[in-house]
Amino acid sequence: MSLPELIRDPAAWQRRCIASRDAGTRIALVPTMGYLHEGHLSLMHEARRRADEGGRPGLALATIFVNPAQFGPGEDLARYPRDLEGDLAKCGRAGIDIVLAPDDPSAIYPEGFQTWVDVEQVSKGLCGDRRPGHFRGVATVVAKLFGLSRPHVALFGDKDWQQFQVLRRMAADLDMGVEVVGMPIIREPDGLAMSSRNAYLSAEERQRAVAISRALGDAQRRAGQGERDPGRLASAVREAIEAAGLRIDYVDLAHPETLRAVERAVPGTRLLVAAFLGRTRLIDNVALP
Ligand code: AMP
Repeated sequence: MSLPELIRDPAAWQRRCIASRDAGTRIALVPTMGYLHEGHLSLMHEARRRADEGGRPGLALATIFVNPAQFGPGEDLARYPRDLEGDLAKCGRAGIDIVLAPDDPSAIYPEGFQTWVDVEQVSKGLCGDRRPGHFRGVATVVAKLFGLSRPHVALFGDKDWQQFQVLRRMAADLDMGVEVVGMPIIREPDGLAMSSRNAYLSAEERQRAVAISRALGDAQRRAGQGERDPGRLASAVREAIEAAGLRIDYVDLAHPETLRAVERAVPGTRLLVAAFLGRTRLIDNVALP
């Protein structure tokens, strides 16, 4: 499989996308921060498939940009892992045609930039409360990537469930004309949700990290057996994760779309977790049966 074309300049990328769209080409977009793993690649394979849905070859696009606007002070912006060369090879194998990888944040946020997208309600609670400004940064960069790329469809992972709901809401509220699609979480063989941040974990931490997905799986089983009390389900998850030596950031049960707290864990309720292993913050979530 050949390497995708690499474009550095957002303006050149936009000209290319607009020309393709004007020519009737179907465009599918996968925004990422790079250091790609199988989770990203599943989105890219789906982008390839959806771009070609019209019966003629479409354009499957990926972006690689570590977006400073979604990192808070003291977070891991400076040490976020990067491997552009390896990522390009993976994009090529996943069927991506062109990759946008701006070489400097100023290409996306030039001097004078001052417009921000704030998705008010869905950005509250969960990661929104623990990472102030995070979803404003995410929504703004994705709005810009939509404007630059003019996609018909954009693919996002369920791993970042709140992010997916924020972006769906944004696209609908602002009439962006982009279909925002969520894709299942891709996991390591032991159940740990794949994440670029897993690269931070020591071998010993990596072993303990599985406590998160195990606890979520146990809660799914308990809910399947009829446990409907959110407090009891959350406590069991919390205890199991803490027993493995992780520090809980939150364990919450929420409505899958509004992300408001629920009084009963009805089918479809989302159970979401964030926990620290040393300095590394991991997130995961499941739907309850
Ligand atoms: P990131 O590079 O972390 O910003 O992620 C880019 C996209 O890949 C986002 O839509 C993520 O939700 C998605 N993603 C990350 N990890 C996974 C995973 N394990 N399974 C499915 N999608 C994922």
